Amino acid sequence: MPSDVLERFLKYVTIHTTSKEDEETIPSTKRQFDLANILVQELKELGIVDTIVSDECYVIATLPSNLTPEITKTVPVVCFFAHMDTSPEEAGDKVKPQIVNNYQGGDIQLPGNLDIVISPKDTPALLKFVGSDIVTSDGTTLLGGDNKAGVAAIMAALTKLKADPKLKHGTIKIVFTPDEEVGRGVDGLDVESLKADFGYTIDGDEMGVLESETFNAAGGDIQITGFNCHPGYAKGKMINAIRILADIIQNFPIDESPETTEKKKGYYHPYESSASVNEAKLKFIIRDFDFEQLRQKIRNVEEFTNHIQEKYPYSKINLTIKESYKNMKYKIDEVPEVMMNAEEAIKRTGIPVIKKAIRGGTDGARLSYRGLPTPNIFSGAMNFHSKKEFVPVVALEKSVETIINLVQIYVERASE
Ligand SMILES: [Zn+2]
Repeated sequence: MPSDVLERFLKYVTIHTTSKEDEETIPSTKRQFDLANILVQELKELGIVDTIVSDECYVIATLPSNLTPEITKTVPVVCFFAHMDTSPEEAGDKVKPQIVNNYQGGDIQLPGNLDIVISPKDTPALLKFVGSDIVTSDGTTLLGGDNKAGVAAIMAALTKLKADPKLKHGTIKIVFTPDEEVGRGVDGLDVESLKADFGYTIDGDEMGVLESETFNAAGGDIQITGFNCHPGYAKGKMINAIRILADIIQNFPIDESPETTEKKKGYYHPYESSASVNEAKLKFIIRDFDFEQLRQKIRNVEEFTNHIQEKYPYSKINLTIKESYKNMKYKIDEVPEVMMNAEEAIKRTGIPVIKKAIRGGTDGARLSYRGLPTPNIFSGAMNFHSKKEFVPVVALEKSVETIINLVQIYVERASE
């Protein structure tokens, strides 16, 4: 199934769309409109007339059903999401994509930076793509496969669906979002107005990946008030907040930290602190795939903090913890067809389904709790947020095929 997905991808990655942390506005950077406006133009050229870009840089489009009105009513409205911004963690301007034709294994040297090598040693999955063409950056920037691979896959799928009336589909909604990388990708979106039943983000990594789980998340801070005085005459008087802080940090278990856990194991993560004798502060996050376990971890922090408060009765220790997002699995499991249909769509492309849990939050998690169950499907891009990012062309093509299969499966299942 040849498609124009590669051509689109190579075009989108050259448009600078890096987002920015700690901005009040959506989008966080005006330059994201550069890609949004191109997409609107391309959608209109495709004949998708119901297309807008909002003031907050959301591109929203509708591909009308090509079924009879009666059947259309029975087919769920599916919405595909991809984000236009790239991560502020790595340079995203003047991306110069390179194509390694017919990759034969071994290291991939990047011409713009000879110190950077994409190697099967640190990325074993690379060897699955021997014989495929692989797109990389020149080593001076990220590639932007996260998530322009998803944008390109959706656009290429729409092109095919529009061109071939034999491909039956219900009403399809498309949303390209800004600012996913700074955690605000759906903040400015009116989810209800989409009138969609189910969503899919095309923002997963390796070919075949399907994800319906994210962490449950909480975050908090601890403030410790000490008492300073002349250290030569401090006996029985001084209360050193630095020592109290050290005691507290000891209690965050090292075998449940980001640096010692993977896959489905949760963690505690103290990530920022400042301290003097008078005052100390600590910020931390807690993550767990199981909600009860998250609650238990929160109780543990409360308990050891209380315990330390008792040990230092003349200091004041203030603890605040807030839950931030929840595992989308609880919402997605309520509608099993969302995952069943996606699994079937991937299988029909002839590749194995890789079910994974996301060790982070996603737009899908937020959408799922705002009423739109939204798992995550692969786009084929790998080594996100890095100069070593790459996209095998075959993976991009399989992503397009998956989208096309998926919309047809919804039609088949509706008529069963
Ligand atoms: Zn992404």
